[in-house]
Amino acid sequence: MIKNLLAPSTLEFTRHPNTAALAEMERAEILADPGFGKHFTDHMVDICWSARGGWHRPRVQPYGPIQLDPAAAVLHYAQEIFEGLKAYRHQDGSIWSFRPEANAARMQRSARRLALPELPTEYFLQSLRELIQADASWVPSAPDTSLYLRPFMFAKEAFLGVRAAEKVNYYVIASPAGAYFTGGLAPVSIWLSTDYARAGKGGTGAAKTGGNYASSLVAQAEAYDHGCDQVLFLDSEEGRYLEELGGMNIVLVKKDGTLVTPASDSILEGITRDSILQLAEDRGHRVERRKVTIDEWREGAASGDIVEAFACGTAAVLAPIGSLKGADFEITHLDGDESLARSLRQELTDIQYGRVEDTHGWMMRLDSDAAADSATE
Ligand SMILES: *Cc1c(COP(=O)(O)O)cnc(C)c1O
Repeated sequence: MIKNLLAPSTLEFTRHPNTAALAEMERAEILADPGFGKHFTDHMVDICWSARGGWHRPRVQPYGPIQLDPAAAVLHYAQEIFEGLKAYRHQDGSIWSFRPEANAARMQRSARRLALPELPTEYFLQSLRELIQADASWVPSAPDTSLYLRPFMFAKEAFLGVRAAEKVNYYVIASPAGAYFTGGLAPVSIWLSTDYARAGKGGTGAAKTGGNYASSLVAQAEAYDHGCDQVLFLDSEEGRYLEELGGMNIVLVKKDGTLVTPASDSILEGITRDSILQLAEDRGHRVERRKVTIDEWREGAASGDIVEAFACGTAAVLAPIGSLKGADFEITHLDGDESLARSLRQELTDIQYGRVEDTHGWMMRLDSDAAADSATE
């Protein structure tokens, strides 16, 4: 408690500019075709934490390798969490993020589950602003492009005993991202995994932690083997209820306009899903957050009661699901230009890119102190 009282409400970052930063020409070449997660900006944020000293030594430094002791706990026991959000450049050149406080709060929940220290929301927001200040020129301006921000935290302490680490580091790196779907929004095909679960009761499914991804990779490989783009997991206890894809949430749309999405303690609650469902509710759609069985989807698709399905998450925003394949069945959904999924995606990205009014107060400016000050009041 005493430590909290003494912790400053904001951090004093030291800034170490990258003297080998890319030249404007080289950067422009990357921004012209950034892909996803391949190229990184010139700087990164690094903040240390120790059980004795709390959060300290906040800095912005040149992007580059992290030195780790081979006994660093993360390499052995996977005590790690991360976040993912984007910086969007608006028409007037200003740079914004979408609901970053929700990412900060989720990272705190993930931290509690992984026995990592909670980074205060204000430090999280400051870390994003600091990185944007250093690397603003890396935020692309072409339609549907962004700078993907990846905050993460892990156990750095060199100790093979099994307990929560007493030395942890928090970083933010950034990677320019192109339009996820080049040449239009293509529907994705989904493989239903029945052999593997991504998370179980009491496990870490609701935390954004690398281990959940590690456990999803063989199932994702199985999806590719069956000619599918992504894998869908069911609950681990009964193998009946929809959970989510490896890294995206799922929503079904009924003929009467109702949106149905799984409620479960073992899925990662996406900020994209929450926002899309809010937009649908604003339009008068009914939204049901409840258990959904795979049979309900199969029967609904067969009877015509379920007319659309989509996956959603920050990276892709929203991907219509064209088909779901299982070992002995296949569901297909038509994906028309008039689909609800497409129109909700348009509305959400219009807000993110500042093309329509942000009536929910979701956007937070990252590139100006004045806006930053008013946003944190
Ligand atoms: C990050 C993530 C999502 C999507 O969350 P958003 O906040 O919408 O980006 C969904 N599922 C998993 C497993 C995730 O890690």
